[in-house]
Formats: sequence, structure tokens, C-alpha cells
Amino acid sequence: MTLLIKNGTIVTATDLYGGDVFIDGERVSAIGTSLAMAADRVIDASGKYVLPGGIDVHTHLDMPFGGTMSADDFESGTIAAAHGGTTSIVDFAIQYKGQTLHQAWETWMKKAEGKAAIDYGFHMIITELSDQVEQEMDALVRQGVTSFKLFMAYPGVFMLDDASIFRALLRTGKNGGTICMHAENGGVIDVLVKNAIAQGKTAPKYHALTRPARAEAEATHRAIALAEMADVPIYIVHLSAAEALEMVTEARDRGLPAFAETCPQYLFLSYDNYEEPGFDGAKYVMSPPLRPKEAQDQLWRGLATNDLQAVSTDHCPFCMKEQKVLGKDDFSKIPNGAPGIETRMSLVYDGGVRAGHISLNRFVELTSTSPAKIFGLFPRKGTIAPGSDADIVIFDPKRTMRLSVKSLHMNVDYNPYEGREVTGVSDTVISRGRIIVENGKFVGRAGQGTFIRRAARS
Ligand SMILES: [Zn+2]
Repeated sequence: MTLLIKNGTIVTATDLYGGDVFIDGERVSAIGTSLAMAADRVIDASGKYVLPGGIDVHTHLDMPFGGTMSADDFESGTIAAAHGGTTSIVDFAIQYKGQTLHQAWETWMKKAEGKAAIDYGFHMIITELSDQVEQEMDALVRQGVTSFKLFMAYPGVFMLDDASIFRALLRTGKNGGTICMHAENGGVIDVLVKNAIAQGKTAPKYHALTRPARAEAEATHRAIALAEMADVPIYIVHLSAAEALEMVTEARDRGLPAFAETCPQYLFLSYDNYEEPGFDGAKYVMSPPLRPKEAQDQLWRGLATNDLQAVSTDHCPFCMKEQKVLGKDDFSKIPNGAPGIETRMSLVYDGGVRAGHISLNRFVELTSTSPAKIFGLFPRKGTIAPGSDADIVIFDPKRTMRLSVKSLHMNVDYNPYEGREVTGVSDTVISRGRIIVENGKFVGRAGQGTFIRRAARS
């Protein structure tokens, strides 16, 4: 199968030019002007951007949490991702206590196999670190699971102590893996949560009020300091608070390899959403929580100046009916998470590029190229170049769409951006040379996505 995309504006993290892209099989074979090759299929991309497929390095599909499961599995979640212009995800496999990392990896590979419609990789969440687990980290890196997520929050469930975190960081200095950190001070938060419940403060907004920005900033600072002492890079996931960003900025100004992502919810929503009537605040219960509106400008500043290197989603949807409602009388029982896998590219284009916060090249860098580089996918993915996987989005910068639970494809009964209008929509989506979305319709197949063996840091 050959495919020729003609007359588009090709955009990468560094370039922007008019041209044609010729795809032979799964890869980009040639780029040029007025390419004359015969192709099985020709797509006219006049007036549209031809972008590298989006890469979302933070998703939770089919994940157990608080006695329920995230509402999207690898089929519905990756189809929704494809609709939104994302062609690769890195999800999280969880090592439960008493399990080996390999057991965890196998469990998640089974969840994805035969279901994923786009390519996928895994970060490994470590909840127990023994000598044997350290050795397993090395083996996983060799098998293409080259990043590990650790928690400084959720004591008794996911949280690791500083000594374990430090050991894991040291290990990545030897095996070339990368540590991703959930940076919130779990001990402080647990005390605040217990006090709030004891005082009868049970509404959803108390989820935010018991997770102070300083708890995120403190943990971010500590995580970076531990990585500095271990002499390895670190990646802070879902950074939300301006106070935490200050810590990353300060470290980067000192030349440290500290990296961080933020998510659309922190750029477009705020604490005010928790004040919505009734139980509606539960829609936004996620960790870290939404912050005061003023933080948004700081996050955009960080994205523009490269103190933040990626925008991922932390997609972890739970329905209001039957799931979020578990915490009707106690905010601490509301499953943490919100949907976002489908809306990332349009939101960041509309609210970032069109609003003048970031350039078009920077948009591509933040949603595809930079996460690909940090997590060992580049140059196979994250750019449009001869030899790269033909993961391509034909993006219509003029088309407008109203975000609504009625028209989106995520398997959840609300949308946090309900009614918001965005300009800039994915038109046609190509995954390894196959058209999987055309004119807003999914034409791919569940199970077509393959596991991506990611490279270690060299
Ligand atoms: Zn997450």
C-alpha cells in the first residue's frame, strides 16, 4: 500500500514548508515538492497542516482505582485518541505489592493486545522495590519498557519512601531508564484529608483544598534533589502548580536534566470548577487538583520557554453515574481522574497557538517530538522524515468543533470542556501508513496497534 499526501503544509518541531509526503508501507519514503510517484491512494491536503501524529505519554486505560475501573479500555480509549489526532500512547502498568514487574507487564500487555487501535508502550509503576525488582528494572529496559513511575503520594498504596526512590534513581544511572515522578507530599495530604473528613467537609472541592500547591512544590523540589544526588535525569508528571514549576525552572537554570509535563486540564480549567453546583465538582477530581486560574499563565510561560517539555493528558475517565458517585458523601472516595485523550491536540492548538502562547512548531514539539525524544521513540516517531513511521495527522486549522460528550468518543458520561468551541481539528489520521480516521470517522481496526519497544537513554 502506497499513499501520497499532496499540497499540504508540513510542520515539524523545526520546519514549516509546503510539500508532498510519499508513504510506502508503514514508513515515510520521500518528501518533496510536486512528487510524481504513482500511489494507491492520493490525499489532497491543500489548506491543511501535515503533522507528526500526536504522542500522549500519560494515559490510564483499563486501570483499577478505588474499587472501580477507568471507563476506557484499550479499544475505546485508543479509538478516541485516534479521533483526536494521537497515534501513540504510553500507558502505565502497575506492579501491585507482592508482584514482580514482569507479572505487571504481562497483565497490561494482555489488556492492550487485540484491542489497541494505535501503537502503545508502557511505563512501569513500581510500588515495592527489592533487590530482585532492581534487577527486573534492567531486564525491562532491555525489553523496551524504559521508564518507571514512582509515587510520593498515596501512602500505603503507591507511595515509596525516599530511600527506595533514591535507589531506583541510582539504578537508572546504570540501565538507561528514566524515572517519572508523581510529586505530591502524600503524608501531608493524608493528614489534611483526615482532618477535613472529621470536620464534616465532604464536598468535592475539599479534594482540592486538602492538596495544597506547596505539597506539590515540596515533592517536586525533593524529587529533583534526589535525582541530582543520583546524577540522573528526572521527569515530573502532570505538573499543575505554579509553585512546582518554579522548582523545575530553578533546577533547569542550574543546568540539571529536570523535565516536566503539564496537561490540558491545568491549562484550561481551574479551582473555580470545583465550585460548580451540586456534585458537579466531582467531574474535576483528579490529582494533583485544578489550581487557581492565575497558574495557567505561568504554565503557558513554562511551555513557551521550555521549562515544561510536554503536554500529555493523564486520561483516566470515570463516569459520574456509578463511579464518581462513590464519593457522594466523602470526597476522598471519588475516583481520581478525568477524560482528555481525544481533546488534547485541538485544545492545545486552539488555546495555545491561536491564542498566541506558543508557535506552531512548538505545538508539534510539545505534543509529539519532545515526548518522543524523552521516552525513546524518536526518530521512529515524533517527526515526519524519510524512514520514520508514517504516523501522520492532516489537521484543518480552520475547522471549528464544539466539544461535547454527545459527539466525542471517550466512553464516559460527561466532558470537562462541555460546550467549549475549538478551532483546529484533526481531519485524517494515519497510523503506520494506514488511514485510521477519515472525515471524522474511525476506519481503522481494534488490534492494529502494536507494542513499541522504546530505546534507553544512551
Ligand atoms: Zn496519571
